[in-house]
Amino acid sequence: MHTFEFVRPADSAAAVATAAQANTAQQGADVRFVAGGTTLLDLMKLNVETPARVIDINRLPLDKIEARPDGGVKIGATVRNADLAHHPTVQREYAVMSQAILAGASAQLRNMATTAGNLLQRTRCVYFRDTAMPCNKREPGTGCPAITGTNCTLAVLGTSEHCIATNPSDMCVAMAALEATVHVQGSKDTRAIPIGDFHLLPGSTPNRETVLEPGDLITHVTLPPPVAGSRQVYLKLRDRASYEFALASAAVVITVEAGNVTRARVALGGVGTKPWRSPEAEAALVGQPVNQANFRKAAEAALRDAKPQSQNAFKIELATRCLTHALQTATA
Ligand SMILES: Cc1cc2nc3c(=O)[nH]c(=O)nc-3n(C[C@H](O)[C@H](O)[C@H](O)COP(=O)(O)OP(=O)(O)OC[C@H]3O[C@@H](n4cnc5c(N)ncnc54)[C@H](O)[C@@H]3O)c2cc1C
Ligand code: SF4
Repeated sequence: MHTFEFVRPADSAAAVATAAQANTAQQGADVRFVAGGTTLLDLMKLNVETPARVIDINRLPLDKIEARPDGGVKIGATVRNADLAHHPTVQREYAVMSQAILAGASAQLRNMATTAGNLLQRTRCVYFRDTAMPCNKREPGTGCPAITGTNCTLAVLGTSEHCIATNPSDMCVAMAALEATVHVQGSKDTRAIPIGDFHLLPGSTPNRETVLEPGDLITHVTLPPPVAGSRQVYLKLRDRASYEFALASAAVVITVEAGNVTRARVALGGVGTKPWRSPEAEAALVGQPVNQANFRKAAEAALRDAKPQSQNAFKIELATRCLTHALQTATA
């Protein structure tokens, strides 16, 4: 690993001021925050990330889960994934979040991993993590070997000719279905960013993954008040039963009255270049009777624009079945 300066700021303002000196907040950043370190240190060991300065944010007071006056929840940036998943309010009112986090990584990793770090985890595309290979996300303009190479785990939704990398997070898929908001303290102002606007599609700049700018510190995430009577499920399909990223996953928050769907929020994981909310599936569900045929139609709507690569066409049917089954489970 290369050498770097390790900085422990006294408060959030000092952390932001130091990070604001960075050349970018995207790939190639020369200043990085570190929280649990389970993404950043991995990538530094591989020389994929080579920051000259690393700012430790673990001593900042960002580690609380609090009730909000509107009935929602405020989740601090350094709340550990394990603490979030096991929090009684989250388990009771936002079960899809708890299930998604517990379906990810391992117990040890969840004890270290944080809310903000999870939001910013990087793709597992093998070429991105191998500096001997070209990769547009790591080094813009060098090409995307995954398009003609190993792409069985990569995305079918939101891809571009420049990058087809999957966003690997489970937690973010639940956040998409729960309509979370990401709160950022920047060098000029604070911002509240809806989760759907936080991650960017790769387009021609796959090195830009989020809307963050130099200095931007994620301080917390808020969830809106729970929807009364909603039923929630996170279903994750993968190559082995634990300690594996999703090939396809589905987060469902659905409300049913008198046998008909009155409200639906649906997001997919493992298949999109960002956590994939599906307004198409939601529109197909609302007003319809609860039955398997309607769930299958909604799932097909979610995957209608999917574009298979040479090795991952199976994901389209897998994700369709995953969402259909998640909807059935939630409404059973
Ligand atoms: C072996 C393995 C298996 C895994 N399996 C899964 C899985 O199945 N599902 C899944 O969802 N995840 C999985 N993960 C990923 C894991 O969830 C992430 O590594 C973790 O959530 C990152 O959190 P962290 O706090 O350790 O981040 P860090 O490594 O500390 O930081 C990650 C990035 O976020 C930035 N950052 C951190 N905090 C802030 C902040 N407050 N403001 C701005 N920037 C910030 C850092 O600068 C860095 O760029 C796995 C990881 C490993 C190593
Ligand atoms: S899919 Fe994206 S991350 Fe993977 S090699 Fe292509 S450009 Fe790089």
